[in-house]
Amino acid sequence: MPDGQRALENLLTENRVFPPSEEFAAAANAQPGIHEEAEKDWQGFWRREALDRITWFTEPTVTLDDSDAPFFKWFADGELNLAYNCLDRHLEDGADKVAYHWVGEPGDTRTLTYADLHAEVGRFANALKSLGVARGDRVAIYLGMIPELPVAMLACARIGAVHSVVFGGFSSDSLVDRIDDAQAKVLVTADGAWRRGAVVPLKEAADDAANRCPSIEHVVVVRRTEKDVKMEEGRDLWYHDLVPDQPVDCPAEAMNAEDPLYILYTSGTTGRPKGIVHTQAGYLLGTMLTHHYVFDVKPDDVYWCGADIGWVTGHSYIVYGPLANHTTGVLYEGAPNQPDLDRLWSIIAEYGVTIFYTAPTAIRAFMKWGDEYPARHDLTSLRLLGTVGEPINPEAWMWYHEHIGGGRVPIVDTWWQTETGAIMITPLPGIVPTKPGSATLPFPGIEADVVDEEGNSVPLGGGGFLVLRRPWPAMLRTIYGDDERYVDTYWSRFPGAYFPGDGCKRDDDGYFWLLGRVDDIMLVSGHNISTTEVESALVSHPAVAEAAVVGRKDDLTGQAIAAFVTLRGSATGNEDLLSELRDHVAKAIGPIAKPASIVFTDDLPKTRSGKIMRRLLKDIAEDRQLGDVTTLANADIVDEIAKQAATATDD
Ligand code: ATP
Ligand code: MG
Repeated sequence: MPDGQRALENLLTENRVFPPSEEFAAAANAQPGIHEEAEKDWQGFWRREALDRITWFTEPTVTLDDSDAPFFKWFADGELNLAYNCLDRHLEDGADKVAYHWVGEPGDTRTLTYADLHAEVGRFANALKSLGVARGDRVAIYLGMIPELPVAMLACARIGAVHSVVFGGFSSDSLVDRIDDAQAKVLVTADGAWRRGAVVPLKEAADDAANRCPSIEHVVVVRRTEKDVKMEEGRDLWYHDLVPDQPVDCPAEAMNAEDPLYILYTSGTTGRPKGIVHTQAGYLLGTMLTHHYVFDVKPDDVYWCGADIGWVTGHSYIVYGPLANHTTGVLYEGAPNQPDLDRLWSIIAEYGVTIFYTAPTAIRAFMKWGDEYPARHDLTSLRLLGTVGEPINPEAWMWYHEHIGGGRVPIVDTWWQTETGAIMITPLPGIVPTKPGSATLPFPGIEADVVDEEGNSVPLGGGGFLVLRRPWPAMLRTIYGDDERYVDTYWSRFPGAYFPGDGCKRDDDGYFWLLGRVDDIMLVSGHNISTTEVESALVSHPAVAEAAVVGRKDDLTGQAIAAFVTLRGSATGNEDLLSELRDHVAKAIGPIAKPASIVFTDDLPKTRSGKIMRRLLKDIAEDRQLGDVTTLANADIVDEIAKQAATATDD
């Protein structure tokens, strides 16, 4: 937030409230009193849950060790193995339960039971050992969404190696940076990945990376697309040559609770990615507990988290949380618009998916494509929906509610980060009535607050910086190789509190409304205005599917609001709509927030995880040389928007 300003404006009021149905509430995993119970003794709450839910090799005697804060330790003398918790312990009374219904983009499918997954993980764990991978070594995984991806992660967990999954859409440069930073010894990749009907040449990028990274001793290659690839003698091994003959039996290493489990680089919305380090027990507890309560998962559910495993959402809510909870999940390889715009809805209908978790960016794309695609399919198996990744505009929430949820099912808007490991602010369906656009309340045991510049709590009704006032088990432990950056980034802005970098306001009921990144906050005529509220006002116009706003320098007002807008299916952007939209914002949230300029565009610059990247729009709005575009999914759009902006009219 710019200096001299204490708080963030609260402009948008959203009064719709959706209480859960009585049937849902009666059967919900979370029952009234859970927040209060945890509040009485938050460390006791985590301890009870950890002893209850985790299968320990050695039970911990300590809960939280804060002697070296902010390098917190949880359950520090406990021993366990995450692959054991995700697989072995389910074999006795549930080996035949399906772990993943896998759906390939071209239409092929595979079904993996817990027994299948356990066996494949054992074999791959032994294969890794045969390549010299030992406890503590780093393994880079660069794959599309195929079953070998969770298999490779769990094989690492089984032998105590540290995995670093690199999203399959990243370039070889990004792969090099990540392999180098972690000094990975083995790289697991494939001959390619299916995406939008084409093959992503993973092996080419992997070769380039392996050639440039001296730490890599071996590359294991899964055959997926049958694309011809070069195999380097001595270094490269086909998965199908290496793995099938390995013994299934591979002892699960007894890991210390605080041994590292994985490194995952943040998605890079703000700049240089950070290697976030997660450890074993606290992370497992956080993911399985939130998965149980937030998604209300029951033994018969068919659960589908549509994220890519290359992001933390996939790590926590496709792999570790759901498997530890013995859940049946769907794993889909490809794009949502392949072969047609209804692919996801056809999968939901076919598998009888009951719980579906996706991102606002996807929901806005569905809105843009049109209502007819979900309408083609029977979605009545759904009983819970979730969203994560960005603030969800209330109108996008309503669209999701009506067109996917049939107006019946609860939506959980879950706020968390790569750094937090697990969901932090969220409705518990069944006990927390939801409001479109609000992540509602902190998860039991979590203490969140909204503070001003000086770190003083802002009273209900006001906005400011979100902070977390207590450590929590699934928290990051550091940034890999850079303890100082860990302390600087997260623990220095407000002494004693964790600072996630997001703006937030609370309403009179104490509900939390996330307002986007504090770096993006605009200062207009002395008012701090969040990007989220102006964007949500724009999206509440029926012609608009998606909007991004930035503050650009202005002699008169300090900053002026520059808006970039993508329209829904049938609407066309012209001068009339432009002035209509400006008036619409003024009416919805006040004249102060009226955009000075609006550019219509077919798409917005997004990270590869689909998040809007505002800093580049700011460069365009201020006519500057463009900043780093390497983490963009759609780099071409930036030039196009720049051209359109140059011809757009200003106020
Ligand atoms: P980087 O930290 O490298 O800039 P990133 O922040 O995009 O990348 P993630 O850890 O994937 O990487 O994203 C976490 C961020 O996403 C949060 O800090 C917040 O800004 C946003 N976010 C996630 N879920 C929600 C939500 N439900 N509501 C509002 N914002 C959310
Ligand atoms: Mg971040």
